[in-house]
Amino acid sequence: MDETQLIERYFRTLGAQRADVSLGIGDDAALLRVPVDRELVLTTDALVEGAHFMPGASARSLGHRALAVNLSDIAAMGAAPSWMLLSLVMPEVTDGWLAPFCAGLAALAKDHDVALVGGNLARGPLSITVELAGLVPCGRALRRSGAHPGDALYVSGTLGDAAAGRLGADEASGPLLERFEYPTPRVALGQGLLELASACIDVSDGLYVDVRRMLAASNCAGRLDVERLPLSEPLRSAERRLGWPAQHGVRLALTGGEDYELCFCAPPAHERAIFALAASLGERVTCIGDVSEGTGLSVNSSNPELCAALEATGFDHFRR
Ligand SMILES: [Mg+2]
Repeated sequence: MDETQLIERYFRTLGAQRADVSLGIGDDAALLRVPVDRELVLTTDALVEGAHFMPGASARSLGHRALAVNLSDIAAMGAAPSWMLLSLVMPEVTDGWLAPFCAGLAALAKDHDVALVGGNLARGPLSITVELAGLVPCGRALRRSGAHPGDALYVSGTLGDAAAGRLGADEASGPLLERFEYPTPRVALGQGLLELASACIDVSDGLYVDVRRMLAASNCAGRLDVERLPLSEPLRSAERRLGWPAQHGVRLALTGGEDYELCFCAPPAHERAIFALAASLGERVTCIGDVSEGTGLSVNSSNPELCAALEATGFDHFRR
């Protein structure tokens, strides 16, 4: 199959069909209509074999994840996702890989009303790059930099599941592996938080590192209560079943990463509205700490070893 045939077969109608696409796949570039009262939000993220996934990873999961990680960034801005570009580099073209990959990508795209409007296909070591656009009312997007002393600190969902799943806890850890392979970006929650949150970040590299990024951008200090971290029942049960060292589940929750939950700050007066919003969406939101004047993030834990280990942590893609 040549590139034109591949596009016709797999990509031409992938995802949502949107009325604001003047010209989609097939020309030199796409033409898209941005409403005058909206700002365009752009993000991109790559999944590279060997760095972000192992050879033999599920193609359907890769299709889902390639879009989910970008949707999570759009969610953290409080924006509504709209259009995506896909750059796909593959060692060889096989229906056995492309069909499930496109199915995973298309299902999530339709769920979030995202149209595929263009991209690029090339031969080489497997890597998948999605560029995702979203729309947000002008001047209203959530940023990392808006937190104020006195705000409360919240996180959505549960933490540490994806890391436990990635590390392959055991055969009984299906729900944890599911959380790694099929993360749920909190897109509706992010848009609801436009009215309520002062700052927001999505948890991709680990709560501890990502909260510090948000606080640094806001020129604030913060405190995290380890006892309040939301750990899922599958994670707690894996901890019991596998005889992990003390606080291993908590450690994964703080530093495991790839949770794709939203971590956000909000003034105390918004507490009731935040929990009402979460309940209306069927989402879980937990208050895990607060924001103060100063710099840095302190961790409240009865375990001094955990605090010392965190001090020494700091995720950096380029420092392995
Ligand atoms: Mg992010």
